[in-house]
Amino acid sequence: MNMGLEGQVALVTAASRGLGRAVALQLAREGAAVAICARRPGPLEASAAAIRESTGAEVLPVVADVSVPEDVERLVRTVLGHFGRVDILVTNAGGPPPGRFLDLTAEDWEAAVRLTLMSAVRLCYAVVPAMREQGSGSIVAMTSISVKQPLPNLLLSNSLRLAVIGLVKTLADELAADSIRVNAICPGWTRTERVEQLLADRAARSGATVEEEADRIAAAIPLGRMGTPEECARAVAFLASPAASYITGVSLLVDGGMYRGAM
Ligand code: NAD
Repeated sequence: MNMGLEGQVALVTAASRGLGRAVALQLAREGAAVAICARRPGPLEASAAAIRESTGAEVLPVVADVSVPEDVERLVRTVLGHFGRVDILVTNAGGPPPGRFLDLTAEDWEAAVRLTLMSAVRLCYAVVPAMREQGSGSIVAMTSISVKQPLPNLLLSNSLRLAVIGLVKTLADELAADSIRVNAICPGWTRTERVEQLLADRAARSGATVEEEADRIAAAIPLGRMGTPEECARAVAFLASPAASYITGVSLLVDGGMYRGAM
């Protein structure tokens, strides 16, 4: 299927590794020019170079921390200054820290609000006027399976990602008249660098191997394994692309069937 991404401009945040990088790579493969951001110049430049090398696409790296309001404004200004437009925004950031209610302080909540909720809100504030002026646009928010089913020990993700879904559903309604679609992607277990670290920590604590820990998780997934970043990235690229032109306001699970609910 041709997704119709040829000649489009996409901004993917938090893309020096993991899901963000895989999404930027997939969009570039499909013919989009991509702008990416991360906090550290070294890994960001390396990611940009790898995407350029494997796709030949134009890649604009911009150092920015999406939890810092000034960085978000500068990031989008730079992208619009360089490309003159932005067709696709994929909001992504590192995950908020784990913890149960009594492990976390009010300050932890405030930091997580800045990282998980306000980064998406501010990115939308920054791109929506340009998309409106263009008369089209597509926004995909990276969330988690936790919006369907709370995950143990992840109170901040369980709570704040639902607020992002509220933003997505409301913007989908408000911006449809401007031909701007807004959707969310909800990954389940996806084997990124972050998950590799998590598996290594679990293995160190339990005395099992990393693969044994991965197998324990896979046992709860109907497809019998974790997803790859590429599998999640293909779903994001589809939702973001003109191929999904009649889809807005959805929360698409990419979880190997792990969420068993009917809705
Ligand atoms: P990761 O840790 O492998 O990658 C995160 C990326 O975000 C890195 O490039 C990092 O440099 C960048 N980053 C972190 N904080 C940033 C900030 N404030 N500003 C700019 N860049 C920042 O994580 P991942 O596995 O790719 O996950 C991406 C998102 O998806 C996270 O929010 C995570 O919680 C969520 N998620 C992941 C999974 C999974 O199984 N991998 C499942 C559900 C949800």
